[in-house]
Amino acid sequence: MLSTSILSALLVSSSLVAAAPPEVRPNLDADLRLIKTSEADPGVWVTEDQKIEEYVAKNIYFIDITDIKNETTLARLSTKPEEVHLAARAVAYPTSLTHQAEANALIAQLTQTGPKTWLTTLTNFFNRYYRSTYGTQAGTYLLTQLQTLAAPNPAITVTSFRHSFAQPSLIVRIPGARPDLIIVGAHYDSTGGSTRARGPGADDNGSGVVTQMEALRVLAAAGFQPRNTIELHFYAGEEGGLLGSQAVFASYARAGASVLAMVCQDMTGYSPSGRVSVYTDYGDGALVAYVRRVVTLYTGLAYTTDACGYGCSDHASAYSNGFRKSKSIPRSYVRWDHANQRIAAAYVCDEVIRTSSPYIHSPNDAYSTIDFNAVLRHSKFTVGFLVEASYI
Ligand SMILES: [Zn+2]
Repeated sequence: MLSTSILSALLVSSSLVAAAPPEVRPNLDADLRLIKTSEADPGVWVTEDQKIEEYVAKNIYFIDITDIKNETTLARLSTKPEEVHLAARAVAYPTSLTHQAEANALIAQLTQTGPKTWLTTLTNFFNRYYRSTYGTQAGTYLLTQLQTLAAPNPAITVTSFRHSFAQPSLIVRIPGARPDLIIVGAHYDSTGGSTRARGPGADDNGSGVVTQMEALRVLAAAGFQPRNTIELHFYAGEEGGLLGSQAVFASYARAGASVLAMVCQDMTGYSPSGRVSVYTDYGDGALVAYVRRVVTLYTGLAYTTDACGYGCSDHASAYSNGFRKSKSIPRSYVRWDHANQRIAAAYVCDEVIRTSSPYIHSPNDAYSTIDFNAVLRHSKFTVGFLVEASYI
C-alpha cells in the first residue's frame, strides 16, 4: 500500500472531521484515480493497473472516490459506522413473515437450469473487466437476457445506467403500487487480478448475477405485482472500487428516492458450510436482523455471520449515500449526526470469509468451482425477500 502516513497523522486528531483528499492532485495524468481503503485513509492516487494489481488482486478492499462530489457521502466514507448517530430511522421491519404462501408458490418454480446456462456464457467472456471490450460485451449480453426474462410482464422495465466508462449498470424495475423501493443488487463485472488477465468471475460475481436472473425469471413469468416497487440491479465496475453502485445510489440520493431496503449479493456459489451468510458491517442493523429472519425461513437453515470491512461490496455504496442532512441543524454539527435515513443496506454472501472461495480475483474463479445448490439457495432467499419486503 502506498504511504499516506503524513496526511493520516494530520487528520488523526479529529476522527469526526472528514478526511480531505491529498492536496496535490496529479493533474498531469487525468487517468489517475483516488482510492480509500479505510475511514482514516485520506486517499491515495493510483493508476488503474495499480488499483487492480496492488489492491484487488491482493484482496485489499477500497472505494474509488475520484468522482464522488457529495460532501455528506464523502464525510460518511471517512466516519466509522460506530461514530454515526441516527436521529431518525425510516423503516420498521416486520418481526413476522406473513406472505409465505405467495413466496413459496414462486420459490417452487426456481431451478438450476437457467443459472447454469447464463453462468456458462458469463464465464466464457475472457473477463468482464469494466474498462475492457469484453466487459462491455458482457453488459450487452446481460441486457439482452434481462429483457428476455422480463418480457412476460410488459410492466417491467430494463434500463442501462450509463457511466463515465463503457460498461453500464443495468436496472430492472417491477413497478409497485408505491414508489418506495426494495432493491437487490449484484455486480456483474469481474477481474482476474490485472487489467489484462483472464477473469471468469464465476463466484465473484457471476453467481450473484444468475441468482438474481433466476428470481427475475420466476417473478416475471408469474406476473408478480408488488406493493412497493422492486428493482434488481446489476452493477458495473465494482472491482474498480464500487464505481457503478456509487453512481447509481448518488443518483437515487439526489432524486430523494426512498429505498426501504437494499440487499447486496456478491458471491453465492461456493459454500462449504451450505449456509447463507448475513454480514454485519456497513449495513443497517434492523435490516440485517430482518434479512436473517428471511434467510432462516426461506432457506430452511440457520445463517452464518461475518464482517467484511471497508468497501467490500456494493452495499457500501447504498450505505454511504443513504443519509440526508437535517435542514435545521447548525453547520458546526457533524452533518450526518441528525440525519434521516433514506437508504438501508445489508450484505448477503455464500460463506464466511475464512472458508470462502480461494479463487476470486484470479483466473481460477471458474465455472467448475460453482455449487449450484448454493446458487439455488440464494435464489430462494431472493424471492422470499422480494415478496416479503414488497409489503413492508
Ligand atoms: Zn465481488
